[in-house]
Amino acid sequence: MTNPSGGERPVDEILGRVLRDAVWERLNMLTELADRADAPSLVSVARSELPKLTDGWRSLLTEHEPDNRGDCPSCSTRWRRQKAPCSVWRAAHEHLVAGALAPQQQGRHMLQNREPRGAVAQAH
Ligand SMILES: [Zn+2]
Repeated sequence: MTNPSGGERPVDEILGRVLRDAVWERLNMLTELADRADAPSLVSVARSELPKLTDGWRSLLTEHEPDNRGDCPSCSTRWRRQKAPCSVWRAAHEHLVAGALAPQQQGRHMLQNREPRGAVAQAH
């Protein structure tokens, strides 16, 4: 694959950027829908998109299940072990349990690394 812009950036880096931008844009679109869509549209979007989101979380979390030493095999390196729960599991708990679905338990914000909504646009 050639790089039509003539830059020196490797193709892998460009593809990685395109992939990440597509995911951010999808998340932004879903947030917009949640904010603005009418009820019938929201039901339709929820039916099609919620299973994808839950499947995505399951797939991600499966890769970060602790091994028999109690370490995360995905976040650990040969030189440095990462004890479970790793940042992926902490983020899942923060957003799925502590934050989104049980608002009365808000107040503990272990992770503040959510990308701002305008991040994609600003990055260009
Ligand atoms: Zn991990």
